[in-house]
Amino acid sequence: MIKTRFTEMFGVRHPIVQGGMQWVGRAGLVSAVANAGALGFITALTQPTPEELTKEIKRCRDMTDKPFGVNLTILPSLKPPPYAEYRHAIVESGVKIVETAGYKPQEHVDHFKQHGIKVIHKCTAVRHALSAERMGVDAISIDGFECAGHPGEDDIPGLILIPMAADKVKIPMVASGGFGDGRGLVAALALGADGINMGTRFMATVESSIHQKVKEQIVANDERATDLIFRTLHNTARVAKNAVSQEVVAIERKGGAKIEDIAHLVSGQRGKVVFEQGDQSYGIWSAGMVQGLIHDIPTCAELIHRIVREAEEIIRNRLDRAIVAA
Ligand code: NAD
Repeated sequence: MIKTRFTEMFGVRHPIVQGGMQWVGRAGLVSAVANAGALGFITALTQPTPEELTKEIKRCRDMTDKPFGVNLTILPSLKPPPYAEYRHAIVESGVKIVETAGYKPQEHVDHFKQHGIKVIHKCTAVRHALSAERMGVDAISIDGFECAGHPGEDDIPGLILIPMAADKVKIPMVASGGFGDGRGLVAALALGADGINMGTRFMATVESSIHQKVKEQIVANDERATDLIFRTLHNTARVAKNAVSQEVVAIERKGGAKIEDIAHLVSGQRGKVVFEQGDQSYGIWSAGMVQGLIHDIPTCAELIHRIVREAEEIIRNRLDRAIVAA
């Protein structure tokens, strides 16, 4: 077992997080992660209404008695969701851990903290991590440029971002972006993090509800199979490379594109169809560079135990033994 400030603070066995993922973070996956001893997050906005979120949290609780949390992500949206109502649903449900991400989390963080909820804020810059720490969050998830979804606009990879954040952030910190195996966990610990957060890796598991064909596409994809879209809109997103992402990139390259020019291509509703029907070229779906390290579709328990076993093996047999008397 690997014990860190993170496992202690959140009462979980392993320093591994399954972070929020739109259309993916549902009760089946989250409860499997929790039952395997890691910390999973239901993605609030995947549920069409706050009432449905309440039901999803209950469904998860029926499947596990271990800790799990809810993710609330605040990003530009074609149809802004009622964030405050989702937040109230989370508080009312009695969930004790929340992952926030995105812009201006202050009012959400304040509300969650007033109700004794532990907050992990996910961010992509040291300055944002420090500002979240000042806001009173309990932990940081620091997200490198390799990540799926929104890497921010600074393009700093984890190898630099994680130690830079570790030098300044005092509260526990998990490292996100590019993690998928035990080597990544050891690296994150060495760089000063207290654990890892994985998204794409958990998409390709037995319990993830996305279509089998999308899981197989993740396994088939290599580390180059992502595109960065919304660069020109300052809302960069790393997504799986396909015909639609290439079309968006081409439109943006021409210059002057507005969200209205690409909305029909990028709508989350189209991405949802990808996951439900398995046609990976139908819309935009998030995936990280870590696809290059994903070669199978294990259960969550197999994956989590393998990562911990591999990390322990590296620390004991490679790192420790590399030190010899001078
Ligand atoms: P959507 O259909 O509203 O928008 C599709 C994409 O376009 C999103 O990536 C969005 O950020 C982007 N976008 C929309 N309006 C924009 C603008 N004016 N400028 C720049 N970019 C813009 O989004 P969706 O995929 O249906 O997601 C719905 C909600 O879920 C969003 O509000 C977002 O906050 C949230 N979300 C959560 C996660 C997560 O992992 N938790 C990931 C992505 C999105």
